[in-house]
This record gives sequence, C-alpha cells and structure tokens, in this order.
Amino acid sequence: MIYGARVRQARELRGLTQTGTAQGAGLTQGRIAQIELTSSVDIGDEHLERLAQTLKVPVAFLQRPPVDDLAEGSMQFRARKSLPAGVLRRVRREAEITREIARHMLSQIQAPSLRVPDLRGMDDIEETAQLTRSALGLPPHGPVPRVLHALERAGVIVIALETWVDGKLDAFSTWDGAELDLPLVSIGEGSSWDRIRFTSSHELGHLVMHRAPGGDLNALEKEADQFAGEFLFPREDAKEEFSKTVTLSRLAPLKLKWGMSIASLIFRAFEVGAIDQKQKTSLQVQLGARGWRKQEPGADAREPERPRALRKMMELLYGDPVDTRRLGEDFPLYVTELNRMVGRYADTPSRQIQKPASAPSADASPPGVLMQFRARA
Ligand SMILES: [Zn+2]
Repeated sequence: MIYGARVRQARELRGLTQTGTAQGAGLTQGRIAQIELTSSVDIGDEHLERLAQTLKVPVAFLQRPPVDDLAEGSMQFRARKSLPAGVLRRVRREAEITREIARHMLSQIQAPSLRVPDLRGMDDIEETAQLTRSALGLPPHGPVPRVLHALERAGVIVIALETWVDGKLDAFSTWDGAELDLPLVSIGEGSSWDRIRFTSSHELGHLVMHRAPGGDLNALEKEADQFAGEFLFPREDAKEEFSKTVTLSRLAPLKLKWGMSIASLIFRAFEVGAIDQKQKTSLQVQLGARGWRKQEPGADAREPERPRALRKMMELLYGDPVDTRRLGEDFPLYVTELNRMVGRYADTPSRQIQKPASAPSADASPPGVLMQFRARA
C-alpha cells in the first residue's frame, strides 16, 4: 500500500513529470495521475519497486502516511519572477521533507522556546526591527554577529536547500502548521556571505511582519528589505557611521564591520538621509565602474554563515557523527541523500563575525583582515 500524496511529493522533489515517472515505473501517465489523486493504493510489488527506483526513494517513503503540504509563505512573493514552476515546486518539496524530519526530531527533544515576535500591523519598520532585536536577545545597537545563529536561537528552523537557483530564489520563509507554531527559513547554498546575512534578515522580516501574506506583494518585499537594513544596521548607528562624507573607500571597511554589501550600505546611507539621491546615484555609478556590481571586494573576507540547529538535533538523536542509517530508519530516505543533507549544515557553531580592531578612518590603512580585503580589491 502506498500513498498518492507521497508519490506526488517525491516526483515533484525530483523535478519529474508524470510522463517521465510513468515510463520509469512501467505505468501510463494516466495511472500515475490517478495514483497521485488517490489517498492510498496497491500497485503490486514489481511496479512499486520500479516506481520507487524512478523516484529515487526507498519503498518505505511511499508507504509512509503523508502530512500536510508546506504553506508557500514568502515563496509566493516571488511568484511573479521568472522562476519555472517546476523549480519552485522542487524547492518547496525539499523544504517540506526537511520540515517533516525537523518536526519528528522536535517531538523528541527540548527545543529553544520560540522568541520570534508577532509584530503584524506595526507600520514603523525601525521600531519593528528594534523590537525584534530585543526579542532575539540582541542589543539595540552594533552589528549582528551571526544572523542565522540569532534566528536558530529564537526557535526558527533554518533549512539548507540542495536545490539552488542562483540569483532567482535566495530564500523563502513560512510559518508552518495549522497553529503557525513553527517558523521556517529555507536558504540556498552558494550565495555570498553578505547576501546570506541580508537575505536571512529579509526573511526574518517576513516572519515577524507578514504571517498571513496578502495585499501588495511588491510592497511586502520592500518592507522586508527595509526591515533587513534596520535590523543589520540600526538607524542611529548608520547616522553615526555616515556622519563623514560617504565614499566607496569609507564603505569598504564598513562592509566588514556591519556585514552588509557595499551596495546595501549605499542604499542604507540614502535611507537614513546621509546622502541624497544624486550622491546615491554617483556612488552606484562608481560601484559599476570598478566592476563591483558583479563582484564586490571582500567576497572571501568571511565564511558564509551556515545553519546549525538541524544538524545539532540530529547529533543529539543519532550520534555525532550523525548515524544516517538510523536516521533513515526513522525517516525513509537513502543514506546518500541524508549524508548530503547533514553536510549542508555547520558541524560546529559558526564563528563570530570578524570586526576591525577599531573603526578605521577613511584613509588610514586598516589592519589585519582589512589589509587582505584591500589587497583583493
Ligand atoms: Zn521576500
């Protein structure tokens, strides 16, 4: 006996069509469509083996009772972009399955209590970001050392996706469950360290402000971006840092200190009124002229943050290193796939952000890590 919902879930996870799946399983497309719509069905051992092989899952996966689909959450905010529907489905299925593993583990261990504030309906984004910092146990000022760590400590499950769609979908977030009791942020690999920080902060903004999305999706995106700016670089700090003339050479060390791209810093300087539209445009033109739009300096200055919590839970329940064979008994996926999953998470807590010893002045040659940074530029 297998479940139709599991067949569909696995098929979409692998990015397969019903026709492709049918060919592999020795069935017709119509039969696959019918199976997917049926709660549970018996298709005989031979077809079952071939179907599971085609879907690259153990037979037990298809025999496991299904759970609710994952809500689209902030994914629908991007629906207008040019991401193929099949890719969106694949990403969502991947997060959905990881969510199921996470919930299974959460039912057996003591998780940190949820500290993501519900700030729907607040129209002051600066205040929203400040309240969020406070709820997450971060000081009102200064750089956020590790964004993903702050999220995970607040009870957010951060999922490292295998499916990665460069530049089109960095991340998405959703409140999972009928009670909206589990906040999830799914992030893709391969993004630059500063972009991961900004993207995760943006998704945190969605979790805090937009639990039940609706209305003007572009406006929600803009709000989440503003939130990320305020969260990473609070207005008062920004005003102080930008009190002198804002030049690209002054922004470069600020990138390392605050963990934001130079492009975001230019935007931030404009948001807090430190530069006007004309200066903003001029800096953006200079950024382009130096080729920094494609690749900013400081790209290797830090390791990209990686999520840790899911792996930590696995280590608690299945040993360290994680015994994926045992994990596979609880959640039927092949060990190779589970090994790849474990490998996408950090095996130790991520390192603290590297800060310059003192705030460097515009022209002084900055010490340590900034020296390398300059050399790369
Ligand atoms: Zn968004």
